Amino acid sequence: MKEFNIKDLVRKNIQELQPYVSFRDNNTFKNPVFLDANESAFGELNRYPDSTQKELKEKLAVLKDVSAKQIAVGNGSDELIDLIVKVFCEPKNDAILMMNPSFAMYGFYASVNENKVVKLNLNENFGIDKEKFLKISNEEKPKVFFLCSPNNPTGNSIEDIEFYIQNFEGIVVVDEAYIEFSGKKSCIELLEKFPNLIVLQTFSKAWGMAGARVGIAYASEEIIQLTNTVKSPYNVNSLSLNKISELISNKEFVKYNIENTLNEISWLRNKLETINCIKKVFPSDANFFLIQFENVDKVYRKLLENEILTSKRSPQIPDCIRINVGKREENNKLINVLKSI
Ligand code: PMP
Repeated sequence: MKEFNIKDLVRKNIQELQPYVSFRDNNTFKNPVFLDANESAFGELNRYPDSTQKELKEKLAVLKDVSAKQIAVGNGSDELIDLIVKVFCEPKNDAILMMNPSFAMYGFYASVNENKVVKLNLNENFGIDKEKFLKISNEEKPKVFFLCSPNNPTGNSIEDIEFYIQNFEGIVVVDEAYIEFSGKKSCIELLEKFPNLIVLQTFSKAWGMAGARVGIAYASEEIIQLTNTVKSPYNVNSLSLNKISELISNKEFVKYNIENTLNEISWLRNKLETINCIKKVFPSDANFFLIQFENVDKVYRKLLENEILTSKRSPQIPDCIRINVGKREENNKLINVLKSI
């Protein structure tokens, strides 16, 4: 593997940028009078949240066995994707690489930042062709590769992720939004080995906290300092920070959430196998299924008529709808409508 100097990958103006720092961030007080931030002295939520998210980071550091300085907290992992693009990709000059099909927001934030979006088409099993990856990386020289595993919307995990981190001359972001459902090992344990690695996780899926909008990035201290430099002050609100900090201490709750979802996944998979209009249910390591239908437009319309909202993926993935698992009564309703088609 090539020796990495992360600084060489960072946009020049970002290297020189000073982060916003509040005096409160780096000091402790016994009985402070806060007259520094133009807040109201009255009300329940009158104070700004901790911009450094210290308490949450310290708890996560123990949970994930990393240093608190290797953690960035975002307003959803969406915000972190945006920050990563902003740190490394020079508008107009640089490109990002993403799998195709994969999570659309990588391309969205790159486009907002005026970066080229290079797409690496997946093979028929939705895996990556290594030769194709090496060729396209070499030709396009993208700064950042977004590798999503398990991948949204296909549901499969990507094999041999180390190969891609090792053979990419830029930053590799492994998006593990659905990792808890997969039973696979997180790439967080590879952080010591690969200075160009960023791992994204979220509280929106297995943790059942999408409404709180909290996502996490794990990386080297150097990379985390850079994302902190470009983030907005107070980017995560106090209600969410408190709620998530509380939740982390309640491991039983998350275990229960995941077990419940996994039960429903296996129940739904069995039921789906009995439905006539289904051509194929693709293997999934996530909390959703990519399903190929005989007559996808009719199925989608029929589901909508019954107020069952799903995510149509065709024509990009021909004849396919992505459907995530719900509660038993919701899954039952889905199955009944599908049976009636
Ligand atoms: N990554 C992937 C792969 C996703 O599917 C999603 C949400 N659909 C996100 C990131 C964004 O998650 P968050 O709610 O943390 O912004």
